[in-house]
Amino acid sequence: MSFIPYGRQEISEIDIQAVVDVLRSDFLTQGPTVPTFEQTISDYCGAKYAVAVNSATSALHIACLALGVGEGDIVWTSPITFVASANCALYCGASIDFVDINPRTYNLSIEQLQHKLEQAKKNNRLPKVVIPVHLCGQPCEMKQIHQLSLEFGFKIIEDASHAIGGKYRGESIGNCRYSDITIFSFHPVKIITTAEGGVATTNQAELAAKMELLRSHGITRDPMQMTHDSDGAWYYQQIALGYNYRMTDMQAALGISQMQRLDEFVQRRHKLAQRYNELLDHLPLILPWQHTDSYSGLHLYVIRLQLSAIKLTHREVFDALRQQGIGVNLHYIPVHTQPYYQTMGFESGDFPESERYYQEAISLPMFSAMTDEQQERVCSILTKILQA
Ligand SMILES: *Cc1c(COP(=O)(O)O)cnc(C)c1O
Repeated sequence: MSFIPYGRQEISEIDIQAVVDVLRSDFLTQGPTVPTFEQTISDYCGAKYAVAVNSATSALHIACLALGVGEGDIVWTSPITFVASANCALYCGASIDFVDINPRTYNLSIEQLQHKLEQAKKNNRLPKVVIPVHLCGQPCEMKQIHQLSLEFGFKIIEDASHAIGGKYRGESIGNCRYSDITIFSFHPVKIITTAEGGVATTNQAELAAKMELLRSHGITRDPMQMTHDSDGAWYYQQIALGYNYRMTDMQAALGISQMQRLDEFVQRRHKLAQRYNELLDHLPLILPWQHTDSYSGLHLYVIRLQLSAIKLTHREVFDALRQQGIGVNLHYIPVHTQPYYQTMGFESGDFPESERYYQEAISLPMFSAMTDEQQERVCSILTKILQA
């Protein structure tokens, strides 16, 4: 019996042909395909600008830099996220802090955010940027977060690595109605892929221009941005300290092709989630709760074990699933409990709701190419383990 991963890409012959076409063309990188991909993303999301880069991690980094994050600044995010959502602040020399999660959505809690902001205001320690993470693809309560940003004066980067194809209050994630910048990831386990890759969307021309500069060494060929007249046709100027965070045209071609099936992919994920809800309904589990006013990208399907009603431990259930070929995973280890973060003074117990989640959560396999038979196997094996 073959192993069922928790997530994997779905690649068609058309996708393959799109990449091959670029390989036969004049430009493998810095050609016309990256701007076309950016246009595809910005059209889909309803944002004015999209800046494609080589990973969501890079997108988070240049998004922070574009918003002026630097030494002495503070950035807040959720402890239940991939480390990249927090590391981006540290890359900029800023410090990081966390807001505990809502026990129902597993996204950062609005009540905790408000409370922490009031405390921070008194102590003169307000964050410069807050990075809400749309965990599993379920949008955070962006309207409320935006309201708080106006009241307390912080900027917002949405980490929508899990959420492309989703909607918040009827509008596409990535339109930045309630944020400054939104970032997406195109790693193969995510909803669509470019192998490695990411993008940042924004409606602010100045932020888009800064991010474009930073993804390519801080170099400009635009005479308008130069400090003096161009020396000639060869001339460029470095006007900031940037990086090589560029996406290749091969990756962008794969991305454009994948975008054609994005809605289909997310619909399939919703079918699978609905089926999980039905097949697992009778078990001692907490199934994912969904907002009625939003449409999740459904990158992940996370269950929580009701341990008081189960004979096995969390670890034993996880191991039993893995032993039987079910590629479960755990998203995520609370970032503040990572050894590197503990050296900054964070301690276990700092964010109790996140730590409770970590003791109970398991991500079941969820990917658009998953078959009904594979899903039935996951459910029957899980049922046997829990009823043993
Ligand atoms: C995957 C992921 C990232 C990083 O994405 P890369 O494209 O691999 O750099 C950041 N944040 C979250 C929430 C993610 O899931």
